[in-house]
Amino acid sequence: MHTLVTGGAGFIGSHLVEQLLQAGHRVTVVDNFATGRPDNLPRHENLTVRRADVADYEAIAGYFRGVDWVFHLAALADIVPSIVEPLKYHRANVDGTVAVLQASREADVRRFIYTASSSGYGIPDRYPTPETAEIRPEYPYALTKYLGEACALHWFKVYRLPVVSLRLFNVYGPRARTSGTYGAVFGVFLAQKLNGRPFTVVGDGNQTRDFVFVTDVARAFMAAAESEAAGQVFNVGSGRPQSINRIVELLGGEKIHIPRRPGEPDCTHADISRITATLGWRPEVSLEAGVKIMLENIDYWRQAPLWTPEKIAEATRDWFTHLDRKEP
Ligand code: UDP
Repeated sequence: MHTLVTGGAGFIGSHLVEQLLQAGHRVTVVDNFATGRPDNLPRHENLTVRRADVADYEAIAGYFRGVDWVFHLAALADIVPSIVEPLKYHRANVDGTVAVLQASREADVRRFIYTASSSGYGIPDRYPTPETAEIRPEYPYALTKYLGEACALHWFKVYRLPVVSLRLFNVYGPRARTSGTYGAVFGVFLAQKLNGRPFTVVGDGNQTRDFVFVTDVARAFMAAAESEAAGQVFNVGSGRPQSINRIVELLGGEKIHIPRRPGEPDCTHADISRITATLGWRPEVSLEAGVKIMLENIDYWRQAPLWTPEKIAEATRDWFTHLDRKEP
């Protein structure tokens, strides 16, 4: 197959590229390197890398000719910058998705896999949370990822583009983002560990997240592409929420507590029965095994920013200002 991965130089994209190459496919990566890194990618005779912005239809359309499978992972992540710059997020995550959908349709691709986010569920009523749960984005990042999914499903409905949307829960693993913005707990904690600083635990640390290892997630993308499913949405999680205190225990080190943030769920917990039944996918890497792999690769986070409670308070100010509904 000739496959195209947008955001292929990013955290999840680079693991998917690795698995596609291993399976013998040709891969074209389209990435603007806003947060992706060239050295996330291997050198390989079947890999072509194109520097381009997905929102620039004219720039990217030509790359889709002759492509069989498209994996759309290019996006801006993180909560706070999405609150500060909603237009930038709309352009990258919504306009970018529409451009990629249109280019895929023009090229008549056989499979289109969209990367959606469990953050669309906001603070859900039901745990484990099924795909049928109400969508209630709490901040612009979550909203734009959901709008992208709605666009992808629309391209299925109107143009019969064979779309599958994967709603990813908390993905972790080697190469987890180390960009300048505050976000994603593992990157924060691993840089703190390297610097001998305490882990900044939000609240009492008893909140739980459905952490799913990145190679399992890449396998879910492969399974979705290989399937006949179309116009469907699937949760991708471990189905086994774990507390932040458990992560601290596994990483080993001191902790310090910082304030809880508004709009954060106490728990995320994926109902993965649909993807298991339909695609035959299930997670294979336990949290213990996954954390061990991250610790073996901890040097990657030497370049990551070191977050102290003071810096976090500063970086999350807009979060508290805009999302704390207890204030008038
Ligand atoms: N978290 C934490 N300390 C940090 C950053 C995050 O204890 O410095 C916690 C946070 O409260 C949440 C979990 O780690 O329960 C995952 O946070 P992340 O921002 O990675 O993902 P999300 O909140 O979007 O699920």
